[in-house]
Amino acid sequence: MKYDIRCPICGAVNRGLYLEETDGWMECEKCGNVTQHTEHRQTVLIPLFIGSQSRIDNQTDRLAAGI
Ligand SMILES: [Zn+2]
Repeated sequence: MKYDIRCPICGAVNRGLYLEETDGWMECEKCGNVTQHTEHRQTVLIPLFIGSQSRIDNQTDRLAAGI
């Protein structure tokens, strides 16, 4: 799953990011600042796992405990 993330520092849109692999972190291709986007990850990931309730529970538990 790829994401298009707008950099909160400079406002540039970074396209085609794999946020699952970086735990929500992305480095802006324009300004080079590194930011984390957990809110985006949660809202996008949960619909992907419809039909697998255990995966949703695991993801939610991990987010609650790890961040
Ligand atoms: Zn930027």
